[in-house]
Amino acid sequence: MITAVLGGGQLARMLALAGAPLGLRTRCLDPSPNAVAGHVSDLIVAEYDDAAALGRLADGADVCTFEFENVPVAATEWLTKHATVHPHPRALGIGQDRVQEKRLFQRLGIGVAKFEAATTLDELRHAVATVGAPCIIKTRRLGYDGRGQVRLQADDNLAHAIDAAHATLTENYHDGLIVEGMVPFDRELSVIAVRSSSGEIACYPLVENEHEGGILRRSRAPAPNLCPETQAKAAQIATTLLTELDYVGVLAIELFDVGGDLLANEMAPRVHNSGHWTIEGSVCSQFENHLRAVHGLPLGSTEMAQGGVATMINLIGQMPDRKQALSLPGVHVHDYGKSARPNRKLGHATVVGQDRAEVDALASRILN
Ligand code: AMP
Repeated sequence: MITAVLGGGQLARMLALAGAPLGLRTRCLDPSPNAVAGHVSDLIVAEYDDAAALGRLADGADVCTFEFENVPVAATEWLTKHATVHPHPRALGIGQDRVQEKRLFQRLGIGVAKFEAATTLDELRHAVATVGAPCIIKTRRLGYDGRGQVRLQADDNLAHAIDAAHATLTENYHDGLIVEGMVPFDRELSVIAVRSSSGEIACYPLVENEHEGGILRRSRAPAPNLCPETQAKAAQIATTLLTELDYVGVLAIELFDVGGDLLANEMAPRVHNSGHWTIEGSVCSQFENHLRAVHGLPLGSTEMAQGGVATMINLIGQMPDRKQALSLPGVHVHDYGKSARPNRKLGHATVVGQDRAEVDALASRILN
């Protein structure tokens, strides 16, 4: 059986690796000849809007999926005419636009930060006045890892700061802005959930995420001090979204924990960086479960492996000394095979064990 994947980065690479034991072959399409999924799968090098290349991608594939939320929705819609596509392009379209995403969350009764959409400078001034400072102005589309965002503090020279933010953000991005109230969160969490083609839903234990410079640095699962009520709230949010979107595959939702209440920040209609720990830390990884779902197979268990705990560290900009990292017990190193560049995610390491303090201590040895 063949899985076709739009995008050929590390997520496609890990999907391909998870598919191999199930006898699934992977074929990716990516504009870059250096796309790292190409080391472990067939790679078609072409632009996402190249119809002939999309045809080659879909030819004989059992299902088409995507690893990257900024692939053009039109490419996935084109593919639906030639093959089965999961998740549905509608989920991709909503996930590409922070305003549509937040409106959907609101309509489904899922808590969100106060927000307003804006395009012109006048609309932006009005939106900031409505939401109130402190707030974050974000581009509706294409921002990632903290890019395409400007924070306004209550004591900034607001009029001047708004003008500057509008100039900066609209210079590089042209699809409008969103102003969000600053959420005084206790911590950031994410829920990774999966829905099969028969409607079965499974949810991994909530993950606690820490960022550095806008990039995910550390994920811990289950989130420390997790109470069953919070897990149940997150599972409810995921179930509501998966059902509403008639979704098939893995969906990740980033959440703010505010005194036990959960506000949804954004969703990613794909396997997610905060779920990489599931490869060794859970019974069935997010990658295998995504493949099981999109191929119409039964889901695997989302429980922690051996009832343990896991910590994942992103390896950013440079890889740690491999010998040293691998000499630590319970440490698994994933090197994506990319060339080193500042702020680039080159790999990740996951530490699994039974004791939260021990696992975290080992993980911090890889961080340093
Ligand atoms: P995002 O690109 O939306 O994931 O935002 C990047 C990071 O900025 C998040 O992981 C949070 O740490 C922070 N952030 C985003 N939106 C808000 C918000 N409305 N309130 C407080 N912090 C936020």
